[in-house]
Amino acid sequence: MAQGKPKLAVWKFASCDGCQLSLLDCEDELLAVAGAVEIASFPEATRATVKGPYDISLVEGSITTPHDEQRIHSIRRSSRFLVTIGACATAGGIQALRNFKDVNEFTSLVYAHPDYIQTLKKSTPVTDHVFVDFELRGCPINKYQLIEVLSALLHGRKPNTPPHAVCMECKQRGAVCVMVAHAIPCLGPVTQAGCGALCPSYARGCYGCFGPKETPNTASLAAGWAELGVSNRDLMRAFRGFNTYAEPFRRESEAHEK
Ligand code: SF4
Ligand code: SF4
Repeated sequence: MAQGKPKLAVWKFASCDGCQLSLLDCEDELLAVAGAVEIASFPEATRATVKGPYDISLVEGSITTPHDEQRIHSIRRSSRFLVTIGACATAGGIQALRNFKDVNEFTSLVYAHPDYIQTLKKSTPVTDHVFVDFELRGCPINKYQLIEVLSALLHGRKPNTPPHAVCMECKQRGAVCVMVAHAIPCLGPVTQAGCGALCPSYARGCYGCFGPKETPNTASLAAGWAELGVSNRDLMRAFRGFNTYAEPFRRESEAHEK
């Protein structure tokens, strides 16, 4: 890191701001973060900005416009580490549902003057455009994982976030498996851990908000769901959520299109 406090910048693209709010929601830890870094740009928290280059850039949101495409390259050039946070930045977000259709059909239905709309055909993750040093998944992200990533980068080590499935967190907290015990479809076996198995602990199936785990076997899970009576159409829809443009979820949803 450069001399003085490392500079932290937070950038927003197409997103709901929920992941940035996770950083504000750190409360107790935020003071420690603010003490360890110079917050150089964080529009959700302050109007003050400090010129780059930046030591760490946190990027929220997906790339959806020609201007976004230019801006993400400029942020990459001015950042030592670029970390994407949340389902929009890491997997295109819910707005990537448009990628399966012709975006012009939507703009002509929604806007009185669609000719004013400058948009790309697809909503894509940041990693499709520039090199990303670390992807933090979740919709929204887990604030403790965010603190861990920041702490790791500031101390020159690899972030320690779990690559395993939500199922492991179910076992760790002693939650009953909703699929085994109640035949409720659950995306937990293919979804990355990080939420503490929130939904299964309330007897609900996981719908995959943390995105695909490392090497997920989505075909096997889909076959299991089919045995529970889930239709092809519902299987397609299950993989078309917040993380629909993450490669494993996109492929599995397309496998059930017909
Ligand atoms: S409830 Fe879902 S996440 Fe938990 S063990 Fe069962 S399949 Fe896995
Ligand atoms: S159980 Fe699944 S849907 Fe529920 S919070 Fe966790 S990752 Fe998200």
